[in-house]
Formats: sequence, C-alpha cells, structure tokens
Amino acid sequence: MKEFDYICIGGGSGGIASANRAAKHGKKVAIIEGNLIGGTCVNVGCVPKKAMWFGANVAESINRYAEDYGFDVTLNKFNWPVMVANRRAYIQRIHASYDKVLAANEITLIHGYARFVDDHTIEVNGEHYTAPHITVAVGGHPRLPDIPGAEHGIDSDGFFDLEEQPQRAVVVGAGYIAVELAGVLHSLGSKTDLVIRHDAPLRHFDPIIHETLVEVIENEGPKLHKQSGVEKVEKLDNGELRIELTSGETLTADCLIWAIGRQPSSDKLALENTSVALDDRGFISVDKYQNTRAEGIYAIGDITGQVELTPVAIKAGRLLSERLFNGQSEAHLDYNLIPTVVFSHPAIGTIGLTEAEAREQYQQDVKVYTSSFSAMFTAVTRHRQPTKMKLVCVGEDEKVVGLHGIGHGMDEILQGFAVAMKMGATKADFDACVAIHPTSAEEFVTMT
Ligand code: FAD
Ligand code: NDP
Repeated sequence: MKEFDYICIGGGSGGIASANRAAKHGKKVAIIEGNLIGGTCVNVGCVPKKAMWFGANVAESINRYAEDYGFDVTLNKFNWPVMVANRRAYIQRIHASYDKVLAANEITLIHGYARFVDDHTIEVNGEHYTAPHITVAVGGHPRLPDIPGAEHGIDSDGFFDLEEQPQRAVVVGAGYIAVELAGVLHSLGSKTDLVIRHDAPLRHFDPIIHETLVEVIENEGPKLHKQSGVEKVEKLDNGELRIELTSGETLTADCLIWAIGRQPSSDKLALENTSVALDDRGFISVDKYQNTRAEGIYAIGDITGQVELTPVAIKAGRLLSERLFNGQSEAHLDYNLIPTVVFSHPAIGTIGLTEAEAREQYQQDVKVYTSSFSAMFTAVTRHRQPTKMKLVCVGEDEKVVGLHGIGHGMDEILQGFAVAMKMGATKADFDACVAIHPTSAEEFVTMT
C-alpha cells in the first residue's frame, strides 16, 4: 500500500488546482488520472473551443467586415487541418507546463483509472493507495439521447477529433455547447443547422439574452429549428446522415453533433464500496465545504453537479486545500454571483439574478435598466449587430444583483463588473465611475 497525505482522483481543472495548493503547504500529494492531464477544459473543452472561436472571429472579420473597413480581401480557403494542428500544438504546450509544475511541486502523477476498495483505499492498475484526505474530481462526460440511430452522431469530444471540416453539420441542443459549436461551425463556413426543443437556446438566461441571441442567429447565424426534437437518424450508403425531426422535417448532413447536456463520470469509481452518497441525478452530494458523506472523502468540480465551470472547480479545489492543509477552517467557495460567458456570436456575459428571478425574490423592489445599440465595430459597416445590456437592481439603494449582456466584447467586459458586484456595488457606485469612451462597457455605467 502506497501512502500519501492527499490524493486527488482526476487530473482536470479541480484536481490539479487542489493538488498544487496542498503541495505548496508541504503535503505529499498524488494525482490519479485515467486519461490526459488537464481534463475536460484543456483537452476537450474551454481551450480547444476558445481556439476555434478565435478562428471563427477571424473568418467573420474577413467575410463580413473587412470590405467596409476598406480591405479588398477574398477568402480563398479555410484550412481546417492547419487550425486543428496549431490548436493541438498549443494544448501540448499546456501539457508540458503542467508536467513542469507538478514536478516542481513534487506531485506524483499516477496514470490509470481509480476505483475505491473502501473509504480509505484506492486501487489503480492493481496497485493500492491510501491517504487521510481524498478528493474526487472526476468531472463529467457528454450525454447521448436514446433514439434510433443516435450512435451516428458525435458529441463535443468527437467534435475536437474531427480531422476535416464538416460541409453540412447539424447540432442538437440548446445549452452552452450547442450554441458555441454551432456558431463556430457556421462562421467557419460549414452549412449548419441548430435544432432546439423550445423557442430559444439558453432559455433560462435573462430574456434580453436569449431573445437577442435568436434575433442574431436568425439574421446571420446557423439555421435555427425551433420546437424540434430528433426522432430518428439513419446513415445512408454514401455516408450521408438523414436526421428526422419531430416537426416532420428531414435534414441531411455529414456530421451530427449531440450537445444535450453532460452526466457525471463516476462509473469507474466503484463508489458503492464507500459511504459517499449520490444525489438523484447521480452527482456526488457535498456540503458547502465540499465534504461528502464519507469522512476524509471530498468532491469538487463537475462531479458535484453544481456550477459546471473551470474556475469554479479550481477555486473550490484551492479553498478545500486551504481548509485541510493551511488551518483555514472556514474556507469554502461562495457559489453566489459566479460570472459566466458563452462564447457565442456575439458573446454573452451574465452574472447574478435574471429579472424574473429578482422579481420573484424581491417583488416590487426591483428596478431594471437596459441599453440597446449597435456594436461600434459593426456600426461602421453594413453588417450591424445589436448589443443589449441589462442591470437588475434591488432595494432603495439599488444594489446591482444581476448584470446581463450580449454583444461584441462582452466576453472581456464581464470580469471587472463581477468584482464590483461581489463587493456589493449599487447603481450609484456604477454611475460614480467615469466611463471609458468609446467602448461597449461604458453603457453599464451610464444607464438611465
Ligand atoms: P474535468 O476537467 O472533467 O477533469 C476530470 C478528470 O478526471 C478527467 O481528466 C478524467 O479523465 C478523470 N477521471 C475520470 N474518472 C476517473 C477515474 N476513475 N480515475 C482517474 N481519473 C478519472 N468552462 C469554462 O469555465 N469556460 C469554458 O469556456 C468552458 N468551455 C467548455 C467547453 C466544452 C465543450 C465543455 C465540454 C466544457 C466546457 N467548460 C467550460 C466546462 C469545464 O470544462 C468544466 O467545468 C471543468 O473542466 C470541470 O473540471 P473538473 O476538474 O471538475 O473535471
Ligand atoms: P447544458 O446543460 O448547458 O445544456 C443542454 C441543453 O440541451 C439543455 O438545457 C436542454 O435545453 C437541451 N436538451 C436536453 N436534453 C435534450 C434532448 N434530449 N434533445 C434536445 N435538447 C436537449 O449542457 P451543455 O452540454 O451545453 O454544457 C454543459 C455545461 O458545461 C454547461 O452548463 C456549462 O456549465 C459548461 N460549459 C461552459 C461553457 C462556457 O463557460 N463558455 C462552454 C461549454 C460548457 P432545453 O430544455 O431548452 O431544450
């Protein structure tokens, strides 16, 4: 039996962050990782997605805006394999930097899938390991629908494996991943259909977001099929996919992408050998300190089914190590006011309560400010694109409890405002800050 002070199962965003912090406090630490170091974010999530999104922005600049800025350019060819090769090389550099940091922190990286033998013993490839503190950070994986022919589609992991650009793609789903991948494919020139079950993607976001998103998609994005599910998928002899929708429509494509949500990756852990409890969706139940029901076993990140974002997994992991190994007995992540960006076209940024949530919570005590304009980058061209913003304020002092925006640059605008909101900023505090002109961000401090 090999002994450590701390073992993290899963070498993704949460596991690595927590392990590094524990090692900085002098602990003997191991990470067990069954696949590639870096987990979802680095290998099949945020990082390759953002690289593709940047590529899509380059395509949009050339195709849509360059001419009106006076450039006489023609896009002869988009070379998908070149972009994929550069994306993969970038990820390899991230892997190398992880290896360097783990080595510097003297963290042992154990390759293989971990399974629990009991609350204190883990088995990997026939070897046994133990530690007084074990954190489960195994993340999640894409969910596939249970319909005939579903296996002919790929998921977001499969998207990042594509060696050639799909000519005709159908994306099914209405969350972050569906919106982001459909946007990227469309902007890079694939004929793209986005199939959603209701009237808008991201329908749980504030209406100013999803209504504007639908308007932009219908003007210049992928073809949107509302109120549609997929009934059946067939693969023809020529490799083409026939996708039958519940609306009676049939789509053909060479690539079908399921983006209908994710599920916990607890299958290989043999949690039945422990006293760890799962919730009714199969995620690991934790208290606010990330404690599971088993003494000495904690869980962080996507496997807890809370907010599925990389910085959330990282912060929860670091704070857990501060609590366990640095005497900060009350350290824990505050899951309120977490900012989030959807890398759509244009980007969406949102934090806090939607207007409806605020009205439900605070009734009449809610005041809303909005702003609507054409993003300046687009306003000097023939291809104007809307930007819409909303502040949701409550109480006599108009504390800002919700901030929502969709438009050019929103991905980079949100972070600073999130700091202000975490500090309890009011509308008057926003207004007291001098605007930066000309930017989109200034609208948030000049709303009347
Ligand atoms: P993961 O990063 O998933 O790491 C879990 C690791 O555990 C994996 O490496 C897995 O191989 C390993 N593992 C599983 N089982 C075992 C086992 N039994 N033994 C050993 N190892 C095991 N978030 C953002 O904040 N911004 C974004 O832009 C963003 N984009 C995304 C785009 C896509 C397409 C996807 C799918 C996700 C995106 N996310 C984004 C979400 C983000 O990737 C996750 O929230 C984050 O990676 C969760 O980190 P984690 O540590 O909980 O799990
Ligand atoms: P989400 O949970 O965001 O969205 C999935 C959506 O798909 C559901 O909300 C639902 O919307 C729709 N859906 C569910 N089942 C079906 C079905 N059978 N057929 C058609 N549509 C269906 O999941 P994602 O996989 O997009 O993303 C998972 C999480 O990863 C996100 O919630 C986010 O936390 C994280 N992520 C973050 C990103 C970022 O930070 N930029 C990027 C990507 C992921 P409806 O009910 O309206 O049909």
